[in-house]
Amino acid sequence: PGGGQVILEVDLARKQFGGLVAVNDMQFSVGSGQIVGLIGPNGAGKSTMFNLVTGVLPLTSGTIRFFRDGSLQAISGLPSREIVKLGIGRTFQHVRLLPTMTVLENVAIGAHLRAKHGDISEVISSVLCRNQKIEDALLLEAKRQLERVGLGAMLHEEAGSLALGQQRILEIARALCCDPSLLLLDEPAAGLRYKEKQELASLLNKLKAEGMSVLLVEHDMDFVMNLTDHLVVMEFGTKIAEGLPQQVQQNPAVLEAYLGG
Ligand code: ADP
Ligand code: MG
Repeated sequence: PGGGQVILEVDLARKQFGGLVAVNDMQFSVGSGQIVGLIGPNGAGKSTMFNLVTGVLPLTSGTIRFFRDGSLQAISGLPSREIVKLGIGRTFQHVRLLPTMTVLENVAIGAHLRAKHGDISEVISSVLCRNQKIEDALLLEAKRQLERVGLGAMLHEEAGSLALGQQRILEIARALCCDPSLLLLDEPAAGLRYKEKQELASLLNKLKAEGMSVLLVEHDMDFVMNLTDHLVVMEFGTKIAEGLPQQVQQNPAVLEAYLGG
């Protein structure tokens, strides 16, 4: 898509769970500084596609390449903590926060895990005891990312007391620690009110203006229409369409997948 540098290249990625082909030879790319939407009905294989990119699941076949050190290099086969370190940050479909810890602590723990990929219980206890194991640098980084996403005034609130839209933005701040060049967001707008969706969209546009590349999984087509530069549509593991959002929206196969089922 577009004329710029490709940052992520998915080349015939395939994932089978027994007899089920969850991701069927998918092929698409994300250009540097683009917001690309990966959409499709429930069960299409979107989250599985994310898990392949981030190394959470091994590919059955195919290759995934990521731009680093001046060229596209295969990342498939690397452990997920290595993929994170190369510069791919992600959020999950369901909110994963420690609700009784503060906003700052939640992001600092994320930053610490990325930096050290240590044992989670050890990291949590070191934050709770404030025993210097979490270096000031990590707290500063967490604070910097929270300010970047607009949560700078909520550092000491309990994460669980935030509205869902703010919790999702908190998760984006956590994914931003360790400076990713590509962000993968799995249904960040799910369950959000209209105003929260608008706030999320403006944050993503801001990150894009800073040069961030984003791959966004979304079930809801309305949310991606005005936000994305390029859309990839999956159904039953297979890419059924891709292109400019306005073109994809008119595609008969896409209308069928969304309305015909
Ligand atoms: P989406 O995110 O588009 O809703 P998923 O990637 O979660 O879809 O799922 C795609 C298909 O793969 C579904 O049929 C789902 O049941 C199946 N699936 C996902 N993960 C696993 C797994 N770990 N084991 C077996 N089947 C799975
Ligand atoms: Mg999913």
